[in-house]
Amino acid sequence: MKFTKEEMKVLTRVATEARDNAYCPYSNHPVGVALVTDTGMVFPGSNVEIAHYKGVCAEASAISNMVTAGERKIAAVVVIGPAMEYLCTPCGDCRQRLREFASPGMKVYSLWKDGKLGATTDFTKLLPMSFGPENLAEVGSGPHKNKLKKRKKARKK
Ligand SMILES: [Zn+2]
Repeated sequence: MKFTKEEMKVLTRVATEARDNAYCPYSNHPVGVALVTDTGMVFPGSNVEIAHYKGVCAEASAISNMVTAGERKIAAVVVIGPAMEYLCTPCGDCRQRLREFASPGMKVYSLWKDGKLGATTDFTKLLPMSFGPENLAEVGSGPHKNKLKKRKKARKK
């Protein structure tokens, strides 16, 4: 999914506001995300930490918002962190979470602290040869199990 300059401005604002609302008194590393679904809906997310140091990443937070609203497919992710020295990209856990709901061709936009675009990355470059729901379909479970059965049936004919 490609965005116009105006759309990118809106997504940058959503992600920045989410980052500025992050609750991260332990790491002091606020992150904000704007998830864009295939249907064009936008969901914000920010990281939320608690006193025993476990927390929820901004991506996980946004995915929860998206799923709660009944959406399932992510077309793009905009991530903004707190730094100008390095770009903020999704952590390993979140790469797998994003993979669960990723549309083919999903892009990750990483912004500098000031909102300027630092990098646009194909998700498959962040998580190559990934494991996802389709892999479980082969053992007859997961959300794609019926698709696999149909494929097997079609092959037999
Ligand atoms: Zn994460």
